[in-house]
Amino acid sequence: MSKTIISVSKKNNSVWRMYFYELNEDSEWNFYTKKINRLLVWFYKLKKQKLYNNICDICGNQFRFYRKRFEKMPDQCFECNPDQLEY
Ligand SMILES: [Zn+2]
Repeated sequence: MSKTIISVSKKNNSVWRMYFYELNEDSEWNFYTKKINRLLVWFYKLKKQKLYNNICDICGNQFRFYRKRFEKMPDQCFECNPDQLEY
């Protein structure tokens, strides 16, 4: 099961939550929110991924992707080059 964390934040009531997408059995991404332990905030922040935009080298379309820190930036969209998808 693949999980993509996009946000870790604290609301006024001082409850930390993380927001993430998870791939279900039908290969669809579902959005979830989950309370997390305050002591684990650093851990989830480390795993958090950012949304980037890029232009495909092959078809010229703009595409969006999530990238973990220090990961290589893809130059082609996932339709032209599905091999780039890593679950
Ligand atoms: Zn493309």
